[in-house]
Amino acid sequence: MKILVCISHVPDTTSKITFTNDNTTFNTAGVQFIINPYDEIALSKAVDLAADGASSITVITVGDASTEATLRKALAIGADSAVRVDAQPLDAWFVANQIAAYARANSFDLILTGRESIDYNGGQVAGMLGELLGLPSVSIAKSLSVENGQARVEREIEGGKEIITASLPLVAGTAEGVAEPKIANMRGIMSARTKPLEVIAPIAVEPLTKIEVYDTPPARGNVKLIDENNIDELVHLLHTEAKVI
Ligand SMILES: Cc1cc2nc3c(=O)[nH]c(=O)nc-3n(C[C@H](O)[C@H](O)[C@H](O)COP(=O)(O)OP(=O)(O)OC[C@H]3O[C@@H](n4cnc5c(N)ncnc54)[C@H](O)[C@@H]3O)c2cc1C
Repeated sequence: MKILVCISHVPDTTSKITFTNDNTTFNTAGVQFIINPYDEIALSKAVDLAADGASSITVITVGDASTEATLRKALAIGADSAVRVDAQPLDAWFVANQIAAYARANSFDLILTGRESIDYNGGQVAGMLGELLGLPSVSIAKSLSVENGQARVEREIEGGKEIITASLPLVAGTAEGVAEPKIANMRGIMSARTKPLEVIAPIAVEPLTKIEVYDTPPARGNVKLIDENNIDELVHLLHTEAKVI
């Protein structure tokens, strides 16, 4: 089975997020980047599926050269080869079209994405890929198995589970539960240095959206301590200051 795993290079969750150029550009200075955690789950699932020895895993990212460290980590975890589409990921439509073009030219049996990126949180790429490639696409997969060219996906729905079967090729957006995230071992880290990392030119695609401005939540005010016996003041403040009742 040929598996393609889409990897988004995202700020570490502990990063302090700031913006420059009148709040129109995310300031990457001093920010540590990691593999999007949901993509790590997708990759870990791919490694489990490839344990049959008859499968190959390619990871792909759309991004500039700074994303290569993230791709090397994916190679260390277990991917066989990596592809970087050399372009700024302008929006989900742009990203999905770049990945679709590569996937079309290299025909994969299974394309895995994360359920969403933890930076822009669009949750759009998997659906767009399915549409662009004319393939079934399942989002927020909580469990995934493949047997005889048939995939079985469990999704969590309000009050229960939904079980879906689909023939390969398939696009699936994976969530927590699909696989235990794998940690690269020393052998993986060493072998990642020599695994192929191909850089390809982007295709011409106009993004459909443009970010006008970013805004951060207002800074938190000081904590106000109220005497535990002074319920009237608490209610008054919740009503007039916090405006939650
Ligand atoms: C430097 C930079 C500049 C950006 N500028 C803009 C901008 O001007 N306007 C704008 O709208 N967005 C911008 N983005 C956001 C970027 O385009 C997002 O990566 C893209 O919109 C997809 O994010 P999403 O939240 O919609 O992805 P989701 O749909 O939430 O992602 C789902 C899955 O798709 C895959 N995926 C997502 N992104 C990538 C990727 N880049 N490569 C490979 N797989 C991926 C991953 O598997 C991910 O788990 C920028 C990002 C960066 C890093």
